[in-house]
Order: sequence, then structure tokens, then C-alpha cells
Amino acid sequence: MARAVVPAPMPPNEAERQFRVQQLCLTDSTPDRAFDRIVAMTAEYFEAPIALISILDEQRQWFRASVGLGVRQTPRRDAFCGYTILGRDVLEVPDTAQDERFRDNPLVTGPPGIRFYAGMPLVTEDGLGLGSLCVIDTRPRPPLSARDRSMLRHFAGLAMGRIATLRDRSYIDEPTGLFNRLRLEADVGMALERREHLVVVAADMLSPRFVNDIVNALGYPFFNELMLAMQDRFQSLLPPGCLLYKITPTRFAFLLGPAHRGLEQGLYERILGGFHAPVMCRGIPVRAEVGLGVLPLDAGRRERQDWLRLVVSAANEARDRDIGWTHVEPEIDRAQQRAFALLTGLSRAVATGEQLWLAYQPVIELATGQCTAVEALLRWRHPTLGPIGPGEFIPLAEKTALIRPLSRWVLQRSVEQAAAWRRRGFAFKVAINVSAQDFAGPSYIDLMIELLARHGVDPAGFKLEFTESALMRDPKEVARLLHRAHDAGVTIAIDDFGTGYSNWTYLRDLPASVVKLDQSFVRNLGAGERDRLLARTIIELAGQLGYRVVAEGIETAETLALLRQWGCDEGQGYLIARPMTAEALAQWMDAHRAGGGQALLRKPDALQ
Ligand code: C2E
Ligand code: MG
Ligand code: MG
Repeated sequence: MARAVVPAPMPPNEAERQFRVQQLCLTDSTPDRAFDRIVAMTAEYFEAPIALISILDEQRQWFRASVGLGVRQTPRRDAFCGYTILGRDVLEVPDTAQDERFRDNPLVTGPPGIRFYAGMPLVTEDGLGLGSLCVIDTRPRPPLSARDRSMLRHFAGLAMGRIATLRDRSYIDEPTGLFNRLRLEADVGMALERREHLVVVAADMLSPRFVNDIVNALGYPFFNELMLAMQDRFQSLLPPGCLLYKITPTRFAFLLGPAHRGLEQGLYERILGGFHAPVMCRGIPVRAEVGLGVLPLDAGRRERQDWLRLVVSAANEARDRDIGWTHVEPEIDRAQQRAFALLTGLSRAVATGEQLWLAYQPVIELATGQCTAVEALLRWRHPTLGPIGPGEFIPLAEKTALIRPLSRWVLQRSVEQAAAWRRRGFAFKVAINVSAQDFAGPSYIDLMIELLARHGVDPAGFKLEFTESALMRDPKEVARLLHRAHDAGVTIAIDDFGTGYSNWTYLRDLPASVVKLDQSFVRNLGAGERDRLLARTIIELAGQLGYRVVAEGIETAETLALLRQWGCDEGQGYLIARPMTAEALAQWMDAHRAGGGQALLRKPDALQ
């Protein structure tokens, strides 16, 4: 019976070893003439039927070049080179049949029938064994002479030289000739390996919007030249011997070692100062918007696996906030991690709809207490993080494509719910919140009109709430779509009124008939004369312009009384009712109607 193969033990630095093999693209199958020459010379010198350059990845050994062998790869567990890479010198097996480790190996018992093996490990400068250069015979041989061993080392040295050349080539950023991101990763990896302290600095040079504008207006060649001009200026600001890397089209990076300790801050100021003057490109002055992200790395802190992402986002942050330079902030990072977790979770939630539901909050007419509308507010229960407020996840979703299916889900559910309430005889309107992205093209409004028709809901019983921020991107298109919804009979409300630009002249051109006064005004009514005056003026002005005014965030009876006194038409807030489930809302309505809707207005104190 065949005995089991004894696979070689794993080297202690296996994970890094595999990473390096990948990074160097050594399992790439493009033929390489230099490698081919090396194996041909080796086979010839040793008069061996087989010679190989073998590279080990996680699962397999790959023959990067070979003489006398048909296959390109075998499973790693059969690889002789698994043993070779454990050492630093030639591994020789004069007769495999006599060697415990190999005699049952399928490459010995089957084709190509290895009987003699001599392999020299291919080891990087920092001690990672990538694979081997080996000679193989199908007959046993006497041990190699000292000269032969030395020749094998020599050939392996040539192969390593070739690997280094290939590496250097893949480490260059073509347009600038600078080292690229791969090289930065390799250099940082090596410095950490040597347990050196170093500081990684990433520099974000231009905002994506600016790049977009410049490419549109002046073309790519201009942009490339501009980056070259920036590179020259940047390099001249760095200390001698400090290399600049180009890690993305608009970002540079450099490393500071122990020699620069204490000088870091001065250097950052110098770079930022050096970019105050515009960079000239084809006679056109362009001002860089530089942000530097700084991340000190110590060998001990190996948890910093994602250092590149961290330092790049710190540079982004510095440029965005126009603060020059900033350290990687664990706080910002934590926020990003959460944002990631939420976005992944949200995409699942949107796909199934199971973790989502709509809460409804009543809006009442302040004069009569009658419920005129309910606002649908999206709720999400994350399976592990618990309930997440829309104030947190909607702005995130708005930055991605997720907002579209999310908005559609809300639209669908709220129209269905409106139809159900209509059947129960409730006359209030159902209001939903729309995002700026919902106005990117007509499909959202089309869908709304279609759903209302399909579920037999009178558009007059439906209300859209939008904030002024929705107007930012393409005000004309948004106005056109709002008119479409309005023409179909839907009520339009301006949400969070008073927080945006509140350009009355402009708003007058929109078909809105309701303004919702933002909570921030309502909340401060108790605070002082100025705030009261402000709220009162807005209410009066909006009233004079023919809007119905709804006050949001009414929490106290005092606020309610003031608002009524000033002629505010409607109100919404915890004092009246909190957002609740659809079933709870039906019960609330029954109780509210039984009390004639007046209880609130008559005995406000009792409700606090
Ligand atoms: P909004 O449209 O201005 O909604 C009013 C917010 O005020 C709601 O917060 C509501 O729960 C809260 N609120 C109501 N009365 C009071 C009160 O008396 N005191 C206090 N402190 N808060 C009160 P919520 O539900 O957290 O929603 C926050 C925002 O998220 C909404 O502001 C809206 O802009 C957005 N949002 C909610 N649902 C959706 C949705 O389905 N789609 C879109 N695009 N946005 C939504
Ligand atoms: Mg709203
Ligand atoms: Mg609001």
C-alpha cells in the first residue's frame, strides 16, 4: 500500500512570503526569455534532463521556466521546493528512493520519475524564500562537487537578479517615472520587517471635482503635465535623499525615517508653504489644494494592516477641510469603519426589505386639532448594531447608489399604506421625504404617479417633502420634476425650512404650498427674544406669501401656545405624538378622533 506523502512544514514567515510572491507577479505565465536562458544554461551545465524555476504560492508550485517538463504546475504538497525554501543553501537528494521525505512522492513514483534532485532556494534580500532553481534527473547521482554546488548558487543568483529587475519595472509609475504604490507597499513592508520606525506621509494634491473640471476643459495631456509640474515642485521641497512616490493620479507619498525625527512638522509646513504660489503649466497658473495625511508606523503595531487606506483618507480629510496636514485619527477611522459596516448592512437590508419599516408621525392643524397628515419616517434595525436613525444612514446611502432602491422601497410601502388607510376611512395625507438623488431623472416621479394610480390613491392625499439641498445640483431639473408631481395633484412641501438659503424669490417659482419650519427654530422658542422674533417673522412672511406653515419638533405646551398665537397653521412633534407603527397610528387616530382632536389644545399641561 502506498504510504502518505510527507508535506514540507510551512516556513515561519509564510503569510508575508505568499504576499511577496503575489506582489511580484511571479506566478504570471508570460514567457520570459531571461528565465528561459537561465534554466537552459543550468540544464546544459549539469547535463540534466530537467531544470526548473519553481515558485510556491499558497496551493501550488508554478514552473516559471522549465526544460524537460510538460506541466506548468503541481500541487504544493508534492513540491520538493517546499523543503528547499526552508533552508538558505542547496538542498540535494542524491537518490529519492532512499529518502523518507520523497520516496512516496507522486513525482517520484509517477511521471516525471524524479530520482535525483538538487535545488537552490530563491531568497529575497529580506529573507523570503520564493521558490527554487533546481536540476532533476530520472536516475540517482553521486553528490554534487563543491564546484557544482557553487555553480547552482550562481545560476540561482542570476534568477534572483532577474526577479529584482522585473520587480523594479512593475514598481514604476509610467507618466512620472516615480516609484508607485506597489513599491511604497514593498518599502514600508521591508522597513517594518527590519523593525524600523517610520512615518508615512500621503499628499492629496487636487480635489476630484477640480480634476474633473480641468480634464473636461483642458484635456488629459494638460492634467498629466500639471502633475509633472507639481512633482517637480514637491521634490524640490523634500530633504535630499527623500524619495517621492506617486500612489494615485492625484496623490504623492513619501517616507520619513529615524533621521528625520523631530523635523517632521517643519517639513509639512514647508511643503504647504511651497504650494502657496500657483504651479505654472503651459503658462496657466493652477493652485494646488494640498492635504497631507501623516501616519507614524512602528514594527510593533502590526495591527496597522490597512495603513495605506488610513493615510490616504487622512490626506483627503486634510485637503477637504483645508487644514493643511493631519495625523490619522482613530476617531475618523472608527467612523469610517462604522460607515462601511452600515453600508454593507444596508445593501442587504434593501435587498430583502426585512429590517426596514416605516414609522408614521401625525401632523395636526393647530386651530382645530385635526390630523391633516402623517409623515412616513424610515426605520432600520441592523441585525447586530440595533436601530439606526435615518439621520445617520440616509446621508450615507445618499453618497452611494443605495439611495435609489431605498427611496423606491419607501415609496412603494407608503403608497400601499396610504391605500390601506384610505380604505379605513382616514382622510389625512401621507407625506414622504425625498432625496436630491430621487430627482436625478424622471423615473422616481414617474414611479410615484404610477404607484398612486395602481393602488387607487388620490394624489391629492400624498405629499412630498424635499429640502433646499435637493436644489443644489440641478435646480431647473428639480423644479421641472416638482411641477410634474404637482400637476399630477401631489402636495409639495419644503422641509427643514430656514436652514438652507431660503431664497424666497427662487422658492416662489417652485410649486410648493407648504413650508415646514425647521426644528432648530421651534426648539429655541423658550430661549430668547431674538429666536422668537426670527421664528415669528418666518411664519408671518411664509403666511403672507400664501404658504401653509407647519412647525416641526414641538415638544412643550409653551411652544405650542406661542405657535398658535403667531398664526402657524400646523404642527408636529413629540408633544402631539411620536413617530409610531402603522397599527399604533390607527389606534392613536381612533383615540384622537374620539376626543374631537381638541384634547391637546385644551389641556396641554396634562400631555407633557
Ligand atoms: P425630517 O423629515 O425633518 O423629519 C422630522 C424628524 O424630526 C424625524 O426624525 C422625527 O422623528 C423628528 N421629530 C419629530 N418630532 C420631534 C420632536 O418633537 N423632537 C425631536 N427632537 N425630534 C422630533 P427622524 O425620523 O430621525 O428622521 C430624520 C430625518 O431623516 C428626516 O428629517 C428626513 O430628512 C430623513 N428621513 C427620514 N425618513 C426618510 C426617508 O424615507 N427618505 C428620505 N430621503 N429621508 C428620510
Ligand atoms: Mg420631513
Ligand atoms: Mg424636517
